[in-house]
Amino acid sequence: MSAPQHTQAGLADAIHRAAPDELERPGAFDAIIIGAGAAGGLAAERLTRAGLRVLVLDAGFRQSFFRSPVRRFIAEAVSRAANPNFLPFMPPSLLYQGRRVLRRVGRIRQKVQIQCYAWERRPDAFVDDLDCPYTTPPDRPFLWIRARALQGRVGIPGHGRLYFRMGHDDLVPSDGKSPVWPLAANELDPWYSDVEKRLGIAGARDGLPWLPDSEIAHPLTPTAAEAAFMDRVKARWPGFHPILGRYAPPADTLAGAANTGHLTLRQGAIVQEVEVRNGRVSGIRWFDQASRSNRKAQAPLIFLCASALESTRILMLSQDAATGRAIGAQSNALGRHLMDHVIIRVEGNGPALPGDKTVKIGDGRCVYLPRFDARGESVPKPGRGFGVQVYQVDMGQGRSYFGATAFSEMLPRHENHVTLNRQKLDRWGIPTLHIDCSYNEQELTRVADQIDALRALSAAADISLDRIDEHACPPGFAIHECGTARMGRDPAASVLDPNNQCWDAAGLYVTDSASFPSQGSQNPTLTVMALTARACAHALQPARS
Ligand SMILES: Cc1cc2nc3c(=O)[nH]c(=O)nc-3n(C[C@H](O)[C@H](O)[C@H](O)COP(=O)(O)OP(=O)(O)OC[C@H]3O[C@@H](n4cnc5c(N)ncnc54)[C@H](O)[C@@H]3O)c2cc1C
Repeated sequence: MSAPQHTQAGLADAIHRAAPDELERPGAFDAIIIGAGAAGGLAAERLTRAGLRVLVLDAGFRQSFFRSPVRRFIAEAVSRAANPNFLPFMPPSLLYQGRRVLRRVGRIRQKVQIQCYAWERRPDAFVDDLDCPYTTPPDRPFLWIRARALQGRVGIPGHGRLYFRMGHDDLVPSDGKSPVWPLAANELDPWYSDVEKRLGIAGARDGLPWLPDSEIAHPLTPTAAEAAFMDRVKARWPGFHPILGRYAPPADTLAGAANTGHLTLRQGAIVQEVEVRNGRVSGIRWFDQASRSNRKAQAPLIFLCASALESTRILMLSQDAATGRAIGAQSNALGRHLMDHVIIRVEGNGPALPGDKTVKIGDGRCVYLPRFDARGESVPKPGRGFGVQVYQVDMGQGRSYFGATAFSEMLPRHENHVTLNRQKLDRWGIPTLHIDCSYNEQELTRVADQIDALRALSAAADISLDRIDEHACPPGFAIHECGTARMGRDPAASVLDPNNQCWDAAGLYVTDSASFPSQGSQNPTLTVMALTARACAHALQPARS
């Protein structure tokens, strides 16, 4: 299956078709999907292609200019100033000052979101922090970076676009600190392949035993600049294997779903509860921003794909109408084992880069150093360690920009958790999350190694560093949050079964990264998509209904 290109006309129709009263008609839909990001979009495409009538509800909503003039003005001004097409025509000092001012103004409503490096490319895709608050203990900050927009976070310009598989040591950890994923050996491989073909990945087949290869649609060879950088790394650490990042633009899955004619899509639909009776899901309740009314819809199959913490919040707000029991709460795993990658970043200046400077480098392209913790060994010891993503761009005048980020895992620990805060409500009167998450000694020890590694890497590449993180950023900053509704084989220790279906609610699947039992050091979205594709196939089995 090669990556298809779909027209947007069908998508406009699917949105147009969605009048709220019609959505409430019993029997109108075979399935409802909550959230239209990487997970929800793929689920929509898979289920509509199988002939199901699917309703996608997404919270993203563009208020009219008159309803929120300040926010709309800031969003327009900031994204125009950050448009890469204008950058060459603006004096750097003006650009820098202008951005500082706009970020200050942006703080008024998006104090958390402006901390994402890509905020300024599309501020209105991110949530309004005043409308969507959460709390943390004062000494344990957590940055919850969220999008409310079609395509979710992968649709934000400047998104990393990197996709790596998890390997055997990630899915079957041998350290005794993370649970084994409830999958048979190599069970995820065909689903990774399936999703990679849909995405159309650019990269190379690297043949490393410690990072599984992907299906490559667009084979890459290193540019002169990338080859020179990799040679420096190999000269400093003989036997180490730098590779090219594997990347792809966001898949147009929503348009693919719409083109089947079976999709209905409602934007501005803030889902707050899943309806369950006698252990079987039956529908959802949402607040409709356009009509400013509370709404319901019914379907025997629900995919909850609102991103890890928001999906868990919705589970926590839901209960079985027959028993009064909270959904997913029987195990004491709901809300537990929150993780995010621990990241350390450096930035600096290097020498001019060799090669043709006019060649346009695709968004997402970088050099990746998998298992850079084992840089002195030609074959890394079993384990998960950390990887480094490296971006280098020629700046002219004999200089280049250098940025590198090291990603290592957090362990799934019971004490890192979220609970509902019924005292603090969001703008729509829905209880918010209290997030309590921090690093342990082992993670902080690894931070010291990440810092050493990035210093040594910069020295090897002849980089003069302008800045280096001396401490780990607060959890959440990597925007790879996962866990809090993990899958497992034991209903007493997990929220979801091995097919991402909720133990407490037949027909309810949670396929975003809330389901991860552990995280490895790879970016999470490819695994989110592989789990989603697999869960869709499970939900479509005739024996299930
Ligand atoms: C700048 C940036 C760069 C990144 N780079 C990478 C990368 O290179 N590789 C990688 O693997 N990951 C990367 N990530 C993380 C990646 O984007 C996420 O893992 C991925 O988007 C998760 O997909 P999702 O569908 O689970 O959630 P999201 O993309 O967050 O989508 C959730 C959807 O649910 C909707 N929603 C939320 N709440 C509700 C509600 N109550 N009711 C209805 N709808 C709701 C939202 O509108 C949204 O459309 C990056 C993230 C950011 C922000």
